[in-house]
Amino acid sequence: MLGRFPDSFRLVAATAGQDAERLAEIADRFNPALCVVADDRVPLPATSKSQWRSGRSALLEAAAYPEADIVLNAIVGAAGLEPTLLALAAGKRVALANKESLVCGGELVMAAVREGGGELLPVDSEHSAIFQCLAGEERGAARRLILTASGGPFRGWTEAQLERVRVSDALQHPTWNMGAKITVDSATLANKALEVIEAHYLFGMDYDDIDAVVHPQSIIHSMVEFTDGSVLAQLGFPSMELPVQYALAYPARQKGGAEPFDPVRAGDLTFEPLPERGFDAFALGVQAGRAGGTMPAVYNAAKEVAVAAFLDGRLSFAAIPRLIETTLDRSASTAAGSLAAVLEADARARSVCHSLIDPEVHC
Ligand code: MG
Repeated sequence: MLGRFPDSFRLVAATAGQDAERLAEIADRFNPALCVVADDRVPLPATSKSQWRSGRSALLEAAAYPEADIVLNAIVGAAGLEPTLLALAAGKRVALANKESLVCGGELVMAAVREGGGELLPVDSEHSAIFQCLAGEERGAARRLILTASGGPFRGWTEAQLERVRVSDALQHPTWNMGAKITVDSATLANKALEVIEAHYLFGMDYDDIDAVVHPQSIIHSMVEFTDGSVLAQLGFPSMELPVQYALAYPARQKGGAEPFDPVRAGDLTFEPLPERGFDAFALGVQAGRAGGTMPAVYNAAKEVAVAAFLDGRLSFAAIPRLIETTLDRSASTAAGSLAAVLEADARARSVCHSLIDPEVHC
């Protein structure tokens, strides 16, 4: 993306969670002034033209890096919330791939947009689609958002089949090539619940006016129904390049980039309702969103712990939603009025969820 548009964008700072080698390759190619590895146990390269730092505080400084106009936040999980808030407070455009920023701290993030002079642009493909469909429309013109879901690798599976899912099965996504955590989130449909909450905050829509539908081909990235009944959709072959490019260049459109669309090759576009059984992580997430306060942060924390345990082989796939539900039942909703309140709810939910995991394995 940066390689294709060298005259439009310059990389000034780059960060990684742990992968210093990959970051060093990026640094060699694009020469950012600053490179940060969030995990301070990872050794940094001995020689480089960039300044290298490590640790969480260096990561947070990078989020508000003075030379940057745009901050692309693609951190995995709730750890992305604070960098989003800092970038917005510093007046940056935040291109948001970290949906947990809005799930865990939706009210805080939207307040930071209003107060900090920054702007928030979605990179999640569904939300980029909706954002593009809403361009030029008056506020209040949309009456319903329809998020599309691929259905993940277990579309059509019975509850009995879901009891026997292995880690390798859950990592086979039919249409999107993504990291392990989000691929499992897509398999449980928890990802779609996170996206409903994300849409609620991003577009100021009631939960009653946000629907999700399974669309296995992942060609229509989402739809908006307007008050007159007209429906707009945004289409394309599945690739994250276009949402990233749109968020960086907005309101302009860069020439070229995405794979040319061919409706004939795209073939039949089909739709079906979300499954009613076996995918409780979706309904639990939307319920947590509706409950508001810190409940979406609790849901997300429980889900992150449960998914990590599943990927480690310590929890069955079918136990993921059960663990999330028990954690939600044991958590009280409090106001999510400060970053400290959100982080405290997140930490408490993680500890409840960890304490539940060993008994789960034995039942
Ligand atoms: Mg998405």
